Amino acid sequence: MSSEVERLADFVSSAGRIVVFTGAGVSTESGIPDFRSPGGVWDRFDPNEFTFQNFMGSEAGRRRYWELGRTTFPVIRRAEPNPGHHALVTLWRLGKLDCVITQNIDNLHQRAGLPADRVIELHGNATRARCLTCEQAYERERVQEWLDAGVAIPMCDPPCGGIIKPRTIMFGEAMPRVELEEAERRARASDLFLVVGSSLVVYPAAYMPLHAKDAGARLAIVNLTETPHDGRADLLVRGSAAGVLAAVVDRLQPRPVAR
Ligand code: NAD
Repeated sequence: MSSEVERLADFVSSAGRIVVFTGAGVSTESGIPDFRSPGGVWDRFDPNEFTFQNFMGSEAGRRRYWELGRTTFPVIRRAEPNPGHHALVTLWRLGKLDCVITQNIDNLHQRAGLPADRVIELHGNATRARCLTCEQAYERERVQEWLDAGVAIPMCDPPCGGIIKPRTIMFGEAMPRVELEEAERRARASDLFLVVGSSLVVYPAAYMPLHAKDAGARLAIVNLTETPHDGRADLLVRGSAAGVLAAVVDRLQPRPVAR
């Protein structure tokens, strides 16, 4: 185990209230590409096309959005939680984890076994959709069946016929106020704030580590590459999210006593 991973295990062991902040990097080892690494989503698509304004503004914008959504949803659907997601569930079972604040939309923290009320989703959840007129909820799975059957722009069942939108926060869309306030409150109340797999360039999510640090928490960042907040961290671990989290949690588990 590297000395940074050992130090992180010591941080975790001595903390009483840990908040973990995850980004796309915690799910790359589940087969979901992140946005900004080479080969990531934005190497293949132009983010300026997939804004809330374009989605709401025209049928052409919605058609284009769903063309992309039809290809990206199967990647999320077939992904399985990896040892990093499972390690966070163990941390919760050990009573060390207050909550996970996530930028991810893939539902993998919950699928790994974290209770939904322990996961604060800042950018929504791609496994659900909803009609913007009557608020009828739709499983994204059902919408995918329509897309696969040739529907270009999914609409709400008759007589409503309203626009169906995935429950993700699109570029240019307002952030969810309740989740944002709750995340900031929990970040400020933590004594260890652990960032895992985030480039920390998407705001306002990227303020969370700064809120925690300003309120007196220790800040640790586990990421493969540099982030703009590295200078404020008490500990930087350059390594894979799954490998580092599994190694840290392994150190916390009680060991059988040899006789
Ligand atoms: P990002 O793409 O900006 O950054 C991901 C970071 O994770 C990078 O700095 C990269 O070096 C690091 N990383 C990649 N694989 C890693 C690994 N195995 N271990 C450790 N670090 C690793 O992602 P972000 O910071 O989450 O922000 C971008 C937006 O991406 C968010 O709004 C989020 O909604 C969205 N997104 C989510 C998913 C998902 O739900 N899985 C996937 C792609 C993008």
